[in-house]
Amino acid sequence: MKIKTILSQYRNDFTATIICEHCNHEEKLTTGYDDNYYHTTVLPARTCSKCYKNRAGDIPRLTLETSYEKQIVLYIPRHAVDDMSKWEQGVISSKNDTYVFVRFNGNPGVAVDPSDLTIKQ
Ligand SMILES: [Zn+2]
Repeated sequence: MKIKTILSQYRNDFTATIICEHCNHEEKLTTGYDDNYYHTTVLPARTCSKCYKNRAGDIPRLTLETSYEKQIVLYIPRHAVDDMSKWEQGVISSKNDTYVFVRFNGNPGVAVDPSDLTIKQ
């Protein structure tokens, strides 16, 4: 995400309209902080709430270590990153040493590679 318009600023704190470099989705940023670290690290890493990509075009993925029960996730298979009709929201019900099991639409858990999942915003 990048800044489109600064809406207010007080000392280093600012609010802004930010825009996604990939899908042009706009969001209001209420937690801006005007320093080098924020502009070069925090904002480029921020993901769009529509396409889930950061500035580099990457979608942060879950791992077994960062997955936990009852986590609300979005299934974004790697072959369908740009086809939102293939995305599906679910809830992690459990995991083993390879897969996490995700309930989609209340169905029993389906084994999913955690790297096909991201945290639902
Ligand atoms: Zn986007």
